[in-house]
Amino acid sequence: MSLTLSEKAKHVKPSSTLVISARAKELKAEGRDIVGFGAGEPDFNTPENICDAAVQAIREGFTKYTPASGTKELKEAVSRKFKNFNKLDYAPDQIVISNGGKHSLTNVFSALLNPGDEVIIPAPYWLSYPEMVKLQGGVPVHIYGAKENGYRITPDQLQSAITKKTKAFVLCNPSNPTGVIYGREDLEKFAEVIVKNDIYCISDEMYENLLYTGEPYTSIASLGQEIYDRTITCSGLSKGYSMTGWRVGYTGSSKEIASLMGAVQSHSTSNVNSIAQKAALEALNGPQDSVEKMRQAFDERRKYIYKRICAMPYVDAAEPQGAFYLFCDCTEALKRSYKGQEVGTTGNLATILLNDFDVAVVPCPDFGYPNHIRLSYAISLEQIEKGMDRIEKFLNGLK
Ligand code: PMP
Ligand code: GLU
Repeated sequence: MSLTLSEKAKHVKPSSTLVISARAKELKAEGRDIVGFGAGEPDFNTPENICDAAVQAIREGFTKYTPASGTKELKEAVSRKFKNFNKLDYAPDQIVISNGGKHSLTNVFSALLNPGDEVIIPAPYWLSYPEMVKLQGGVPVHIYGAKENGYRITPDQLQSAITKKTKAFVLCNPSNPTGVIYGREDLEKFAEVIVKNDIYCISDEMYENLLYTGEPYTSIASLGQEIYDRTITCSGLSKGYSMTGWRVGYTGSSKEIASLMGAVQSHSTSNVNSIAQKAALEALNGPQDSVEKMRQAFDERRKYIYKRICAMPYVDAAEPQGAFYLFCDCTEALKRSYKGQEVGTTGNLATILLNDFDVAVVPCPDFGYPNHIRLSYAISLEQIEKGMDRIEKFLNGLK
């Protein structure tokens, strides 16, 4: 046997959102005044009541193994949250608590996929979905949302992409990277296609707390028994509660899928760290006013960044309705030149912005839209203003 490595692992690309943020942090540490529109990470501290609960957990010695798929009290809290916020009935034994939303999704794909199973992922997509699917032996299949439709895909597109090999459809609502939201009527039509073709729906609701349209949130699984039976609802505390580093995600699904995921997790990471589980319990059971305050701050930032980008030459963007991303079409900018050379690609554009303008953005080839960049506005208004001034200067200087 020669010393070969896993073909599957070799084909996985590292997460460029994390690479870009790490680079921006490195440059900051070297003293550069970088504005980071990179990874989607709220700039707020985790609310104090949540931190206090964690400290208390440590002091009280809640520092041992818990059941692998989460404590009973946390599953009960998630179950109540599903009921009250999402209008979904998931009993505690239908819930699995995992190490962040990424881990929840990885568990879902490992519970559902056999080699060669196709998973339909609407583009633009969050860059981790296709890699997660491939790691579990599946085949990602993309359908592309039209710009005129706010990058939303249509139920007809979904229907046309379904083959005998289709196992599941991934719905990211609100969307990373566009911030668009699928409302109840859209979801009803998707549910019809999903049920008719008897495939699973993986509904990633990570940004469900960050909505700016005033419309109530609809979870696709709440639309009827048949879609409920086929959906795995995924969410977590990273974004809405500003808890990215704590690593708490969760799923609601059928009991059968939950027990498969629990078994997989019991042989990999085991439980989410016990202290973070106590913190998550306080997040869900405690006062929710800090979530609302953060949402309002994001909304203010959203309006500002959208207004600024709309006033700039050679770029345009869809108005985000949720999450904290602006998805920006740079096609015209790419045709222009900077310092005598055509900009050409969003990779080049991001490099110029970082090297010459101290601004980090995410080029979106890995999100399925090579001519676009993504700006995360989960940073302060002052930072956004400074960053937008710099981007404007760059664009105004293009020939
Ligand atoms: N889903 C979406 C749509 C995301 O953008 C992210 C990125 N944070 C996740 C899931 C994973 O979140 P976590 O940080 O909890 O792993
Ligand atoms: N999900 C966030 C993003 O899209 C965090 C980084 C990552 O996990 O990819 O930026």
